[in-house]
Amino acid sequence: MSFPAVERQLIVFDFDWSLADQDSDRWVFEVLAPKLRKKMKELKKEVQWTDLVAQSLKELHDLGATREEIEDTLRIMPFVSASACSFLIARRGKSKGLENLFDEIITNPAEWDPSGLLKLRRRIDPSGPQHDCKVGCSPNMCKGDELDAFLQRHGPEFDRIVYVGDGSNDFCPVLRLRKQDVVFCRRYRGLHDLIRPYEEEGRLHCQVQYWTGAWEAEALLDQL
Ligand SMILES: [Mg+2]
Ligand SMILES: [Zn+2]
Repeated sequence: MSFPAVERQLIVFDFDWSLADQDSDRWVFEVLAPKLRKKMKELKKEVQWTDLVAQSLKELHDLGATREEIEDTLRIMPFVSASACSFLIARRGKSKGLENLFDEIITNPAEWDPSGLLKLRRRIDPSGPQHDCKVGCSPNMCKGDELDAFLQRHGPEFDRIVYVGDGSNDFCPVLRLRKQDVVFCRRYRGLHDLIRPYEEEGRLHCQVQYWTGAWEAEALLDQL
C-alpha cells in the first residue's frame, strides 16, 4: 500500500507515545525520582496535568536534581525507533536537533531559571480566556484550535495532512481532518478508543491507519 503523491503535505506529530516512544513528562520522574512519579499518579485526578508536572519539577529541583540530569534523562528517552526522526531527516536533509526537523513545535512554554529549575506553564494561561472546545481537550491546550491556527499561518492549503497521534487529546484535531487526510493512530490508547466508534459509524472524515509498535509507524511513514 502507498499513498498517492501530493505536492503539499503536512505531517503533524503528537509528541508523547507518537514521536517519542514514551511519555516525556512521566519519564523524567520515572528515571530521576520514582517517589515523585508515584505521587503524580496519586494526584492526577485532582490537579490539572500541566500544573502537576510543573509542581513536580519544582519538587524535583528541591530534591537537588540538576538541569544536566534532566537533559540527560530526556536524551536517553526512546523515540519511535528513531524511525520517525530518520524519516524526517531523510525528507528534510537536516540532522541537528528536533527543532531543525520541524517547521514549528507547539507546546506548553517552559524555561530554565538560573537556579536550574525548569519552569513549565500551560499554553493557555489559567488566569486568561480559556478555549471553548467541547470535544474534551485539556485546559492547557486545544490541539484542534492549534492545528487550525497553524494552517492559517502556513497557507496555501495542504493537499494532505497526516496526523500521527495516540492520546485522547489528539481526537479534536483528528475530527477536523478532511477526507484526503489520514490519521496514523496508535492502537490501545485514548485516541483509538475515541475514534473506533466514529470510524465504525462512518462519522470520521479522514482515513485511518492503525499501528502498535514503532516499526509499524515507520512502515506507514515510508509509504508517504
Ligand atoms: Mg501522545
Ligand atoms: Zn479541542
